[in-house]
Amino acid sequence: MAKIYYDADADLKYLEGKKIAVIGYGNQGHAQAQNLRDSGMDVVAADIKGSRAWKQAEKDGVPITTVPEACKQGDVIQVLLPDEFQPMVYKEHILPYLEEGNALCFSHGFNIHYHQIVPPEYVDVFMVAPKAPGHMVRTMFVDGLGVPALVAVHQNPSGKAMETALAYAKGIGCTRAGVIETTFREETETDLFGEQVDLCGGVTEMIKAAFETLVEAGYQPEIAYFETLHELKLIVDLIHEGGLARMWQSVSNTAEYGGLTVGKRIINEQSRAAMWEALERIQSGEFAREWVLETQANKPVLKALEKQEFEHPIEEVGARLRAMMPWLKKE
Ligand code: NAP
Ligand code: MG
Repeated sequence: MAKIYYDADADLKYLEGKKIAVIGYGNQGHAQAQNLRDSGMDVVAADIKGSRAWKQAEKDGVPITTVPEACKQGDVIQVLLPDEFQPMVYKEHILPYLEEGNALCFSHGFNIHYHQIVPPEYVDVFMVAPKAPGHMVRTMFVDGLGVPALVAVHQNPSGKAMETALAYAKGIGCTRAGVIETTFREETETDLFGEQVDLCGGVTEMIKAAFETLVEAGYQPEIAYFETLHELKLIVDLIHEGGLARMWQSVSNTAEYGGLTVGKRIINEQSRAAMWEALERIQSGEFAREWVLETQANKPVLKALEKQEFEHPIEEVGARLRAMMPWLKKE
């Protein structure tokens, strides 16, 4: 069983007299910075001067400055930049201002775990990773609630890294819900595995394969779209709210029997072997190296694959059908 911390296990005194620099006022940054401020913490945010995020911080009443200035002022530095940009910004604008007794903090473990950022041994390094998008981190907090988070310590020269991490988690409201202890390795590897194997990679390939099968068999693409893509949300919502049982109990008996007997033939031994292979590439660092080099090369593979994906026939029929659904947000 995982170790879980709540409000009573965390003490804001570990952040007393410390300035928290939130680097990047984006999705997570705007939420974490405002929650910390409302918890009575001394916060400064940083982003690109004059950007939309910068103006948003001014509107939110959060002091905002440049990255080097915030790092100069900050004792606890939470890095909430896009993961690909973190190593470069770290080297140029964060590292020069890291002093003994400072803490460096992340909401995702990739750069530490795969050695893209190697902090000096005299700073604490920990992670507080909310398990929800920023807007939820903020709205739950404002409602007196919180979202669950993960917490991990990478290095602890002060001897107080976990206490500081839990204080930070309390400051953003996460100990109200519960904070699960993990490691940088576990958070990073399972996060990559989930997004590659089922959440993003697995689910899109399954949708396309099912759609293509029906269309190749001569069924109309509009009908195939509804059955293989559109209805996925109903199923996922049920699973999300009440687990697998809620879903099976909510669909017809025919769907339940068909699903339980045929599903295993679709996600079969071959699919499971591919999952292990994906995990081994993550564990060995092979995937990380590939992604870091891809980023440095200006993402040629990503851009090519994105183009193919967006030109898939399911996207054309989908756009037409979604125009018939007035309840969907139009972008
Ligand atoms: P994000 O929304 O992209 O926000 C990053 C912010 O940093 C943006 O305002 C961006 O400005 C700014 N920025 C980019 N380059 C910069 C630079 N060189 N100097 C100063 N500011 C710069 O990122 P995010 O989604 O919040 O992710 C931040 C971290 O949280 C990541 O480690 C991510 O893995 C983690 N995380 C995210 C979520 C989530 O739900 N999004 C959940 C858990 C953890 P521009 O927009 O102008 O580029
Ligand atoms: Mg994730």
